[in-house]
Amino acid sequence: MRIAVLSDIHANLPALEAVLNKVDELHAGTIMCLGDTMGYGPFPQECLEIVRRRCTVVLQGNHDSGLIGETSIEDFNHYGVQAILWTREQVSKDGQEFLSTLPYVHQHLDATFVHASPAAPERWRYVLSLRAAHENFQAFSTRLCFIGHSHVPVVIPEEGNINEYRPGHRHIINVGSVGQPRDGNPYASFGLYDPEADLYELVRVPYDIARTARAIRDAGLPEYLAHRLFKGL
Ligand code: ZN
Repeated sequence: MRIAVLSDIHANLPALEAVLNKVDELHAGTIMCLGDTMGYGPFPQECLEIVRRRCTVVLQGNHDSGLIGETSIEDFNHYGVQAILWTREQVSKDGQEFLSTLPYVHQHLDATFVHASPAAPERWRYVLSLRAAHENFQAFSTRLCFIGHSHVPVVIPEEGNINEYRPGHRHIINVGSVGQPRDGNPYASFGLYDPEADLYELVRVPYDIARTARAIRDAGLPEYLAHRLFKGL
């Protein structure tokens, strides 16, 4: 059964809807959500309800944790802070309680799933260099580790070339971001893993960015949060 791996939805409902349509089209029976369902975007409550209903497992991200006051938002960028303060007013008490129950790490078959890094899941460290990746390979025992957090998709084999998936080998795989891609491509991003065939691919999906941008402006959230979506920044 194919596994869809979603991360960093960031309250972007049009992106989430487009991705779930694609997930259904691809017949992925398991949907893993790596966290940061909240923050930045204008549809937090809607996204939370859909994720609760559709995802097999939902993990905690730093924005989810910041929203419920478990992680200090002092380290967030200016836009992130403004968005979290706004989001706190939008998410139901029940939704906030749900966020407080989310685990940091999950294992399924031959894969580990975590928002930021397997070495220190609750410290929200980025895996941005090969050196950081190599330290992190010691921190999980499964063959694969799926991460998000940076919003930039990448496949890192333990040995071999970046962005080349090697069946049977160990990898750290960043699936990019559903709701706020930052690799210069504005299309929503998610990972598709087929454990039986041992295949991995990154899937990109166009969505109605203008609808999200309008809702960001209508909510009084910073203009930059709308602007960046068109650029994939
Ligand atoms: Zn994020």
